[in-house]
Amino acid sequence: MNFKELGLRAEMAEMCRRIGFSEPTPIQKQAIPVILEGGDVIGTAETGTGKTGAFLLPIIQKVGENYRPGTTVLVLAPTRELALQIETECRKFSPKGITCTALIGGTGYGKQTQALKKGVNILIATPGRLIDFMEQGMVNLKGLTTLVLDEADRMLDMGFLPAIKRIVKACPEKRQTLFFSATLAGEIEYIAQQFVKDPTYVEVARRGTAAVTIEQKAYPVAHQFKVPLLLDLLSKEDFDRVLIFTRTKRGADRIAHILEKQEHNSNKIHGDRSQSQREAALASFKKGKTRVLVATDVAARGIDIDAVSHVINYDVPEAPEDYVHR
Ligand code: AMP
Repeated sequence: MNFKELGLRAEMAEMCRRIGFSEPTPIQKQAIPVILEGGDVIGTAETGTGKTGAFLLPIIQKVGENYRPGTTVLVLAPTRELALQIETECRKFSPKGITCTALIGGTGYGKQTQALKKGVNILIATPGRLIDFMEQGMVNLKGLTTLVLDEADRMLDMGFLPAIKRIVKACPEKRQTLFFSATLAGEIEYIAQQFVKDPTYVEVARRGTAAVTIEQKAYPVAHQFKVPLLLDLLSKEDFDRVLIFTRTKRGADRIAHILEKQEHNSNKIHGDRSQSQREAALASFKKGKTRVLVATDVAARGIDIDAVSHVINYDVPEAPEDYVHR
């Protein structure tokens, strides 16, 4: 099945080919036709499965077909990094004339305010900053046709449920809602049901399984030997782009400091670093300029980086889902 057979117009299918999407991923095959028809979706899919394209491609086509000025689509995401990543994909997929902007915290209001004043068709936002703008009367969701909740499980973990409820209340009752989550475990499915109507379930990969392409190794090691083992692993040549996860921000700082002293080409991202520091560290890692990136789960959630050769769980993840994400 190619993109055209899923219902995308020739121009959209051609754009996919141009940017290197030779065929749809499984989640795209399942979700695109349903979304084009206007149905609600509950999707279980991880980052890395092409889920952003699965919702953005049909949404952008529909925005173009029924073009109206103002905001008709809102995508909510848990972290600034994920919101920026969705914005980048959205710009890549959008034809001229369809505008999108990320409203995220940790950065000034100036540019985001300017964009809102000009009018934005597709808003991608973290809940906190969106509510700030709603309180200032800068965002009007009355004309919304489509709402996407991306990585909903993490938004709930981060305590965003009250904010999400408030945002959803400001959206029209009659709308299309797409709810994506890495898992539907626990109360998430129940919560999802409050936002969607008669949803189609789309799912890729069994819940809680790591991708089959990943080789996994465990090293039982006493606490005092963790740093020496880490340094030993990093001395191997095939460890060419390495993501290291620690449980705490302090742990990330400590490991980053040790690596710096050992003259490893490394950087760190966690919640206490400024937005610009986090973005610079990620950009440099993505480009391959930084070899080792030390991160906490929240900061790295949903980040999709090509060509990571190794992920090191320096601390055992707290939840099984975190292991899968890492
Ligand atoms: P996502 O799961 O949305 O974060 O996507 C993971 C990566 O896969 C991103 O870099 C996308 O640009 C890329 N991608 C998405 N769909 C396709 C496709 N059909 N073919 C090739 N790459 C894709």
